[in-house]
Amino acid sequence: MGNITFTMIKPEAVAANNIGGILSMIEKGGFRILAMKKVQLTSERAAEFYSVHKERPFYDELVQYMSGGPIIAAILEKDNAVADFRTLIGATNPAEAAEGTIRKRYATSLSENAIHGSDSDDNAKIEADFHFSSQEIF
Ligand code: GDP
Repeated sequence: MGNITFTMIKPEAVAANNIGGILSMIEKGGFRILAMKKVQLTSERAAEFYSVHKERPFYDELVQYMSGGPIIAAILEKDNAVADFRTLIGATNPAEAAEGTIRKRYATSLSENAIHGSDSDDNAKIEADFHFSSQEIF
């Protein structure tokens, strides 16, 4: 599959009609969309996706938020995809996100921060496989 990362446009950004604006920043950032779908996670699926955060105090809130409305899930391709995408989305807390980043432009708070990006190549593969079958990736 080459050099990939996985992303989700989070529920509040979908609800705010920001899908197109965010996808435009992603494509202009040099990423190619290999797979994409609109889907609503059940709370069980959201809990499984974020199971690495199970011990964090905000885990239940995160699961509730991420299963509270539809998301856009996508696999993105680019050289150095994971690190370059983390740069494009900006810091977890939008108050600390750099100018020109997706979170600076679209995130509303630390918890509702518009977009997810994988934090390693291993997790990019795990997260892509969690959401997509091989027939959905082009
Ligand atoms: P990311 O890799 O930048 O998304 O950040 P993390 O892996 O640390 O956290 C995962 C997600 O949990 C973040 O994107 C936020 O949506 C949420 N989150 C992080 N910290 C907090 C917090 O302190 N409170 C709440 N409610 N949510 C948080």
